[in-house]
Amino acid sequence: MKYAPVQNYINGQFVDASTDKKLDVISPLDGNLLSTVPLSTAKDLDTAVKAAKAAFHSWSKTPIKDRVQVFFRYKYLLEKNLQELAALCSEENGKTHGEAVAEIEKCIELTEFATSLPQLVTGEILEVSRGVECRTEHVPLGVVSSIVPFNFPSMVPNWTLPNAIALGNCMVMKPSEKVPLSVGRIAQLLKEAGLPDGVFNIVHGDVEIVEAICDHPGIEAVSFVGSTKVAKIVYQRSTHNYKRCLALGGAKNHLMVLPDAKADMTAANVVASMSGCAGQRCMAASAMVAVGDVDHIIEKICVESRKIIPGKNLGAVINKASKERIERFITEAESQGAKILVDGRNAKAEGKENGTYVGPTVIDFVTPGMSVATEEIFGPVISILRTNTVDEALAIENANPYGNAASVFTQNGGMARYIVDHSSAGMIGVNIGVPVPREPFSFGGWNESKFGVGDITGKSSIEFWTKLKKSTTKWNPEAGVNWMS
Ligand code: NAD
Repeated sequence: MKYAPVQNYINGQFVDASTDKKLDVISPLDGNLLSTVPLSTAKDLDTAVKAAKAAFHSWSKTPIKDRVQVFFRYKYLLEKNLQELAALCSEENGKTHGEAVAEIEKCIELTEFATSLPQLVTGEILEVSRGVECRTEHVPLGVVSSIVPFNFPSMVPNWTLPNAIALGNCMVMKPSEKVPLSVGRIAQLLKEAGLPDGVFNIVHGDVEIVEAICDHPGIEAVSFVGSTKVAKIVYQRSTHNYKRCLALGGAKNHLMVLPDAKADMTAANVVASMSGCAGQRCMAASAMVAVGDVDHIIEKICVESRKIIPGKNLGAVINKASKERIERFITEAESQGAKILVDGRNAKAEGKENGTYVGPTVIDFVTPGMSVATEEIFGPVISILRTNTVDEALAIENANPYGNAASVFTQNGGMARYIVDHSSAGMIGVNIGVPVPREPFSFGGWNESKFGVGDITGKSSIEFWTKLKKSTTKWNPEAGVNWMS
């Protein structure tokens, strides 16, 4: 085992969970055992919530300009330790080194946004009648929680923790049991940056901890990122317990390719979108709707796909079960009459025979009823559906229950605008395969890709992590008495 067993992080200390139950942490890159992760209990969560609650009074009363100083230092520490963090991220998640470096760079950008929060959370003040002032302030909620998925071991935790904590909350984070290592290193860096003990805590585990978070009366807000199935459970259970909740779910993202699209650029974007991070991105292209004759672009997509080699410029998928599930989708599509143009089944990476790799896969002549057309595959697979018109393409995109991202590839500005207006996703790209809004813009889909109000990053997250205090003040007795007094 390469690393020591993973521990919870409570009140600034790494501590054992109150159980012996644990899971192995396996590297998808080569199948090697990295560590073990405890399946903590509701008792461990309660200890973490108590520590967070104890830290809240002092942290929430610290002026925001002082609180963000921790994040200036944390940002510097992310930069200083970038290579080490990227190596850990790649090892536990399976992504390539370059993708892992990009992930840490994104953490730096997210932290940079958090350091700008003092400029964005100024309240408002107005004399609303003679001598009477109304004033608003953003007030932290208390103890909040963040439940995160496996596909971005560092970035998704950094979607929530810098903003929530800079805004004065204390947090309990529940990492994915599949990738528990990076968050532990993040906790060390936050401490080194000067974050007081108890402000950030980690409780590892799976279903029991998630359910305990939704039920714990000491937790005010729950943010969740993961599959739609679990997002629905978490949203229902937390709101049933009168907590605010923002739960981001899965995706099925459609790229609409028109005949006038620039062929080389489009092919490169489609392939990068479907195969980046081995297709394990909620923003990955999963279905391509070919409008009219785009055979010349499909040919280029195949050429580009064949340049992607598992273990070199393509990472692994998270585990054996995931590899088998992805390969089942491909086999099912083939048996239903779709044509496999590039086949990534049975992929192996040289020298890493126990790694879990799926090669890039291009499936043509997919029809809307096939499972590869409707379900989130979460692997480097693109399903091509063919239509004659843009409205038919939009009908396919609109019919999918998710609504995370969509993209259009065309040189026609009017047509692009029409597709932006009529597609059903929260994040749309024009000639961009992965339309992630960068800070200060916020990240969040629509429909079954997100439950709750607002977005998880950027300016929109301020509303989620704070409540508004409205005070009405009169100091001059001569202002008299009226209906407002
Ligand atoms: P997941 O839903 O299986 O797990 C997410 C979290 O929920 C983990 O911490 C896990 O321990 C916990 N969990 C799993 N099953 C549970 C259950 N039955 N009850 C309670 N908790 C449970 O997701 P994943 O496989 O880790 O991540 C991949 C999914 O996340 C994909 O669907 C992907 O699209 C989605 N995702 C969405 C976004 C977004 O912004 N919308 C971002 C990243 C990932």
